[in-house]
Amino acid sequence: MATSKDHTVTQIRFLTESSFVLRFSRDNMQFRTGQHIIVGLKGEMDQREYSIYSGENDDHLEILVKEVSNGNISSKLKHCKQGDILQVNGPFGSFGIETFYRNSHKHIFIATGTGISPFHSMVRTWPDINYTLIHGVRFSNEAYERSEYDPSRYILCTSKENNPDHKGRVTSFLAKFRVTSDMLFYLCGNGNMTYEVYHILRDKGVPAENIISEVYF
Ligand SMILES: Cc1cc2nc3c(=O)[nH]c(=O)nc-3n(C[C@H](O)[C@H](O)[C@H](O)COP(=O)(O)OP(=O)(O)OC[C@H]3O[C@@H](n4cnc5c(N)ncnc54)[C@H](O)[C@@H]3O)c2cc1C
Repeated sequence: MATSKDHTVTQIRFLTESSFVLRFSRDNMQFRTGQHIIVGLKGEMDQREYSIYSGENDDHLEILVKEVSNGNISSKLKHCKQGDILQVNGPFGSFGIETFYRNSHKHIFIATGTGISPFHSMVRTWPDINYTLIHGVRFSNEAYERSEYDPSRYILCTSKENNPDHKGRVTSFLAKFRVTSDMLFYLCGNGNMTYEVYHILRDKGVPAENIISEVYF
């Protein structure tokens, strides 16, 4: 059942000039990793969806936000200070790992930009799952909190500069990626990426039911 409540900002942590993690009080909100919430500033009508970045067992909530140029809400959230009040609805959505498959499958997470957020929540909640995280960004400094992931499971794809993992988009990385029948694929980020990746995976023989996606914009 969705709820609508006030939550108090406790920390803002900048990862780049325009990307930041906003931490706020949890107030006993129950959620499943992969779900999103709807966030706005107290007293304002406008709200936006944000995936939950923190883990199920954390005593706070976090979201990872990128300020969109001329964006209404993301630019306001960027200026939040400790003690500010957010209005939060949710949680919503069913994106995430089915409990039944958690330990039986390899989980392949494919994200662009802040689309890494639900995967951060999953890895934080279940650090021992068998996962590979393929993260597409423009520049290496957008490898948000990379140290939180097992280095052997995190692959950075940078479209605008070289990096030791992969220079290019997640789609060019996936062209050479070997799929096996025990893999489940989770796509999160912009619509073009999820559309292209879906078709790459289908062409490689991945059944449609083994691919789930969350589209941000
Ligand atoms: C289920 C769901 C979960 C989401 N989770 C996150 C999240 O974890 N972190 C996050 O930063 N955003 C997330 N978003 C996107 C977020 O809801 C907002 O759209 C985003 O913050 C822009 O809002 P705004 O009010 O600043 O911009 P607006 O004033 O609404 O203007 C938005 C414009 O920017 C485009 N846009 C939206 N997001 C981006 C982006 N990341 N990069 C470039 N252009 C964009 C839109 O298509 C639109 O043209 C999520 C969206 C959905 C639907």
